Amino acid sequence: MTIQESATHTGLPAHIARGQLFIGGSWREGDGGGRTDIINPATGKVAASVATGTVADINAAVAAAQDAFGDGRWSRLSGRERSRVLLRASQLIRERATELALVESIDVGKPITFANVVDVATAADQYEYMAALAQQLDGSVRETPLSAHAFTRREPLGVVAAITPFNFPLILSSTKLAAALAAGNSVVHKPASDTPLSALYMAQLLTEAGLPDGVLNVVTGPGGTLGDHLVSHPGVAKVAFTGSTEVGAHVAELAGKSLRPVTAELGGNAANILFADADLEKAIGTVISAFVFNTGQFCMAGPRLLVERPIYETVLGILEDAVPGVPIGDPSDPATVIGPLASRKQLDKVSAMVEAARAAGAKVVTGGEPLELEGGYYYRPTVIAGVDSTAEVVKDEVFGPVLTVQPFDTEAEAIALANGTEYGLAAGVQTGSISRAHRVSAALDAGIVWVNSWALLDPSVPFGGVKASGWGREYGPESLDSYTRTKSTIIAFDQE
Ligand code: NAD
Repeated sequence: MTIQESATHTGLPAHIARGQLFIGGSWREGDGGGRTDIINPATGKVAASVATGTVADINAAVAAAQDAFGDGRWSRLSGRERSRVLLRASQLIRERATELALVESIDVGKPITFANVVDVATAADQYEYMAALAQQLDGSVRETPLSAHAFTRREPLGVVAAITPFNFPLILSSTKLAAALAAGNSVVHKPASDTPLSALYMAQLLTEAGLPDGVLNVVTGPGGTLGDHLVSHPGVAKVAFTGSTEVGAHVAELAGKSLRPVTAELGGNAANILFADADLEKAIGTVISAFVFNTGQFCMAGPRLLVERPIYETVLGILEDAVPGVPIGDPSDPATVIGPLASRKQLDKVSAMVEAARAAGAKVVTGGEPLELEGGYYYRPTVIAGVDSTAEVVKDEVFGPVLTVQPFDTEAEAIALANGTEYGLAAGVQTGSISRAHRVSAALDAGIVWVNSWALLDPSVPFGGVKASGWGREYGPESLDSYTRTKSTIIAFDQE
């Protein structure tokens, strides 16, 4: 099959269907000549194949990024010049929204409506926001008693290794790339092995937007081999990692050995606290979207619902009636809310965790089984009661459309249950009391807290984790702190 035929066959644009590495501004096969199949999770069939990168390809990508950084073709442009390219990228993302959403949907199984209005729109917003910040990377003058003029400069770091997970390929790569590029760095991007297609799309798009050759390089392939080599490569100045806590800890260890700064956005297992004084109708909508969005494969999902005892049984009854009605199925149908899980591996993991909970005596209120549909990796939205905080399905990250529900009696107990996890990425409070909203949100051990809402995000508002959910902040001006270094210059002058 030719590339053009393959593109038509899969619905993917030709340069994505080709699936080559992007190094030094050129598309090429991997050094070892290998290919990896990319599966469409809605059908279980091959959607594309991409080059399997090797450590030699990582070396070539880092060398290209170093060359680009060293000669200043991007790093020494003014902030305003960089800003124009990022803004153009944002415009191109919006112009090609339909095509880009399709790529993300085929790759990850995302319902097309959400791929469009969430993933693609957020990516465009990221580039637009960082385009503005690129113009504001100022240093400052420091007042001192020295006979000297003292000032600071914000400088880019060099080559950034950007490593991203399978669940939000486009948003998470845009978060890292837009910030790294706004600050003047070069990038080597290693997307998740299962879902690399939008990374290839963006390499082409950014080039069209005017990003000079070599500033962005994309190497697809196995995480362990390529990731370890990239993180340890002496040419890398900073590691920006998003992924699981387990791999994040390993990456931080490798980076630590060479004293390389690393930001780590890791796993989550957020609690959503529903008080009896909340607007119940509104809160139920929030509770459901918090655990089904992105088929539950969302680090900031709300899979642990804590319900104040007087409304516990009522809430279980409402969920039992409402959850089976959430549209699940073909991601290309605009009405679909829950698509397939992103891979067979995820489906098996979610199934096993629910079965273990059932075997341990938990009550499956609704769902609790895969949905057979067109060979895809579907799992019915599932609500589980009769569990406590020691159950695996409560304390571990399930990463599927699964909600556990636990009752509580007091505000203090709810806070203790919410904080009683190794993770600390997000949390939610549903309440009609403004005092309680302040009290409880301040007491929650999480990087971001939503009150009477879930997953409201904006490029201007920082997010990131505490505890095992990682360190560092993305989004907002805070993001640029980790992509720049501050240099102090002191110019002595003679007093008359
Ligand atoms: P993962 O940790 O398995 O993989 C993440 C990335 O690391 C992938 O690109 C993978 O190929 C790469 N990798 C694997 N082994 C590596 C190694 N030894 N060295 C360097 N890189 C390596 O995560 P995943 O399964 O793709 O994603 C799901 C996880 O990501 C969940 O835990 C989720 O909570 C987390 N996540 C966190 C955030 C956040 O912002 N905090 C956002 C999305 C996902």
